[in-house]
Amino acid sequence: MSMLPVIEAPDWYETIRMADGVTLIHEPWIKPFFRCNMWHVRGRDRDLLFDTGLGHFSLRRHVPLVSERKLTCVASHTHFDHIGCHHEFPERCVHSAEAKILADPRNEWTAAGTYATDEMFDRQPHGWDTARYSIRPAPAGRLLEHGDIVDLGDRVFEVVHTPGHSPGGIALHEKKTGILLSGDIIYDGPLIDDVYHSDIPDYMETLLAMRDLDVSVVHGGHFPSFGKVRYRQLIDEYLAQKRQAGCHLRQRPC
Ligand SMILES: [Zn+2]
Ligand SMILES: [Zn+2]
Repeated sequence: MSMLPVIEAPDWYETIRMADGVTLIHEPWIKPFFRCNMWHVRGRDRDLLFDTGLGHFSLRRHVPLVSERKLTCVASHTHFDHIGCHHEFPERCVHSAEAKILADPRNEWTAAGTYATDEMFDRQPHGWDTARYSIRPAPAGRLLEHGDIVDLGDRVFEVVHTPGHSPGGIALHEKKTGILLSGDIIYDGPLIDDVYHSDIPDYMETLLAMRDLDVSVVHGGHFPSFGKVRYRQLIDEYLAQKRQAGCHLRQRPC
């Protein structure tokens, strides 16, 4: 057990204002590789929350921003580090391919069984016990498919299905601003394609299709945000690395 003092709930979450009414909410005591970026977007009629973190402390209680107004809560995918507080928000959406996991988030399905350990933290949250960690069920009221729209009144986000990291991964793209909320399919750090339900040919196909999206800024599921040049570099690096390893599109198994 670590000798470092534990972190109490009021010091667990941090919010960082970005451009265009976007706010990053994250958990700074979790190491970057495991630290989920939650994205809050202010809309005229309702707000959007894309992912909800580890779920150890209540997001609603400790981040006033997410309880001020009507809010649509979307899951980028159903790994534990992204859906921990979904149960706190009545209006929930997820891609149909992972609806079952959000409704029944057992540790072997959310990858918590593999990744949720004491090693995640720089400092542990008060009351943390790896052996007792589990996520509360949060069945979604709306299932999303590729091309669907999440409408905030004055701004609209289009659903991009991004299988590869997980089968029901999605990104949200706002054409007007070029903002891409990308989840775990693309971010500026080690991309993960070896979770139990990952699929490398799907991953390659998804990134190839996403490469031509008109993006100005990418807010990923982990690590800092970046622009369109880095976006294409990251995609090209992944594809080149996989091709070098002998993986090709639609050639299964890789
Ligand atoms: Zn993930
Ligand atoms: Zn993640």
